[in-house]
Amino acid sequence: MARGIVVLGWFVFATSSAAAVPLVEQGRPVAVVAIASEADEHEELAARELIDHVEGMSGVKLELTRIEIAAAAKFVQQTRRNQQTPVMIGRLAQTRLASALRNTSGVGGTFALQVADGAVFVAGVAEGPAYGVAELLEQQGVRWFMPGPLGTVIPAKTSIEVAEQLTVQSPSFPSRRFQMPHPEWQSRVRCGGPTFPGAHGLKGPAFKTQPELFALIDGQRSPRQHCLSNPRLLEVVVAEIKKQRAQGRGPILGMGPNDGGGFCECDGCRQLDGGDFDPFSFEPSVTDRYIWFFNRVLDQLADDWPDTKIAFYIYHAYMRPPVRWTPNPKILGALAPISLDRVHGFSNPIAPEKSYVRWLYQEWGKLLPELYDRGYWSNLACPGFPFINIARLRDEIPACHAFGVKGWRVETFPNYASMLPANYVAARLMWDHTADVDAILTDFSERFFGPAQKPMLAYVRLMDAALRDSPNCTGSAWDMPYFYPATVRQQARTLLDEAARLAPSDGIYGERVGVVAATFELLEAFIAMLDRRTAGDFVAAKAELDKLDTIAERLMGYAPVPMLSAGRFSTYVNYMKRFFRPCTEQGYARVTGGNRLVVVARDEWQFLIDPPRVGESIGLWRPEVTGGQWQTLKTSSSSWSNQGLRYYKGVAWYRQTLDVPVEFQGRRLFLWCGGVDEKAKIWCNGRVLGVSPGAAIYPFEMDATEAVKPGEPNVIVMAVMNDVVNELGTGGLVAPMLLYAPAAGKEAKLENLRPLGETFP
Ligand SMILES: [Zn+2]
Repeated sequence: MARGIVVLGWFVFATSSAAAVPLVEQGRPVAVVAIASEADEHEELAARELIDHVEGMSGVKLELTRIEIAAAAKFVQQTRRNQQTPVMIGRLAQTRLASALRNTSGVGGTFALQVADGAVFVAGVAEGPAYGVAELLEQQGVRWFMPGPLGTVIPAKTSIEVAEQLTVQSPSFPSRRFQMPHPEWQSRVRCGGPTFPGAHGLKGPAFKTQPELFALIDGQRSPRQHCLSNPRLLEVVVAEIKKQRAQGRGPILGMGPNDGGGFCECDGCRQLDGGDFDPFSFEPSVTDRYIWFFNRVLDQLADDWPDTKIAFYIYHAYMRPPVRWTPNPKILGALAPISLDRVHGFSNPIAPEKSYVRWLYQEWGKLLPELYDRGYWSNLACPGFPFINIARLRDEIPACHAFGVKGWRVETFPNYASMLPANYVAARLMWDHTADVDAILTDFSERFFGPAQKPMLAYVRLMDAALRDSPNCTGSAWDMPYFYPATVRQQARTLLDEAARLAPSDGIYGERVGVVAATFELLEAFIAMLDRRTAGDFVAAKAELDKLDTIAERLMGYAPVPMLSAGRFSTYVNYMKRFFRPCTEQGYARVTGGNRLVVVARDEWQFLIDPPRVGESIGLWRPEVTGGQWQTLKTSSSSWSNQGLRYYKGVAWYRQTLDVPVEFQGRRLFLWCGGVDEKAKIWCNGRVLGVSPGAAIYPFEMDATEAVKPGEPNVIVMAVMNDVVNELGTGGLVAPMLLYAPAAGKEAKLENLRPLGETFP
């Protein structure tokens, strides 16, 4: 059956024809695949992909022939005479398709696919032949929605024919890269092109013998960063680059500050700055000094290595555009706005922060001929709960094209089932920024979920809209209950239940519904765990944690491709361990095994910000203080950031009164806290209990025996300091607090305690 082909892309010379060319007829091979006898990796891949997928669809294995390029025309004639279809790949089709390819941008990945005169021709630039074959296979209904067999759709056919056409496509962005495994999948969804290099650190030896080249911080030289104004540093860096170029490296070399802060405070370096301040790094912008330095490096290379380019991350305190020095056009930048809203799109009015991000892209786009995105499409610090951020992608990727962004090297967790189909949509948009996302979603739900397509498409749209419409934006797992409130979760559950009814669980559609539903069950158990903790029921919270572990193990153990990242870099294992597991497990240990729960702090606290840090001096910790303009904040709302203080850095005070039953008279009593961001000092009835260890968002406890008065109201006051900007965007109290009485002999012997801190703030 012949059909008109609707092609993506914009270099389309002819799109439809009544005629078609057969590859397989009634279970019999008709086509012969030909590549050059000395084929390159892209030609080899193109041939292999075609043969494997044709076999997957029909069970028929096509023959592969290797011929000399000069013999291509003759081979076509001969094969046609034998009533076979020649499939000419790569350089074998180059002459035939030369004029079609001449009118393109010529960017790597560009391809032409021609089906005419009883033959198939696929040629292109670099990865082009493989992408041309991917296009042909997609026209047959093949899809790669996520890595692995479960994510692949291969329709069964006894006959395969390809419609006559000339389809020519070039990528919207020359560089399209996800930072995650499964390069095979990335190649199939046409992710490729040059990779933006890693750009932390300056080129050169370790400088160990030259401490004067280090940054001056508080009067001391520190290896955290470098002293850019020292002329010796320029010499060392230029010499190193010349050496590396002579060894064959380059022409693009990644370079920049080391990850983290600690910028030089010497007069020479400060004089290179432009006087700008970075509001998210909360310190003077150092972009200008680095641009000045890179300009000088490039000047020094102009004679010997004029093609050298410097690639650097636009990040941290060097995220704002320079205000003083104009960058050399040989400077390439990759924006990595890690601490800014990673949930919403540029133009989403619910996200004021994104208008700032948009401005950054726009300004850098004007300054640099080659701008890249080194951003974040995952939910940072998230164990792997649903995160379908399509509204953001369809907003930002086309906008970045307009700002002149040339490529992507985006951090994405391989939590395939949780994010489905966001990564697939991202790949389509990076290839063609004008792609019709609604059509992609419809196609996805039809082909991937079959009989369950309607409820599953509704689920994807519901979860996507939930992120889009939530004002929470810091982008971490603490936001889960706010992204997906109970009403949304109820709708999601109804849709997933309906999908499970429609797709039999023993078939492929049911299996796909099942893994997506499992990521939602993971979310439900997580939110239930947080709720139970806040309510002080650590036994129930521990039961939810066990449920989480069971579901996660199933997803991580899914073969051959885990549906939740597994192994050393498992987001579930690592982020649960770092941020969520200790609170539940320690809380549980403190109320079981003969230990007794005395009282749990209520969800609501009195709260007061203290920008000038005078609270301790004026005695906000005094128990007799009952007045003052205290607000109300909730533990269950996870942090002060989610309660109107997204941009507050500094000290704030928490206060509440706990009733301690008289029966605890004479018992050892401990105050245990599930975590603060970043550091806390706690008083009970006017007596200092201690300063937290400073391990942000990790539980701690303090001996409160001497301070607590059983049978009376006890005033707990806590000052929390949060000075450091982190990418999680939390702040203040992030977990519940309780008083408990340990079983005799178990005092302060519970697990995972870190020594208390000494200084505050
Ligand atoms: Zn300096």
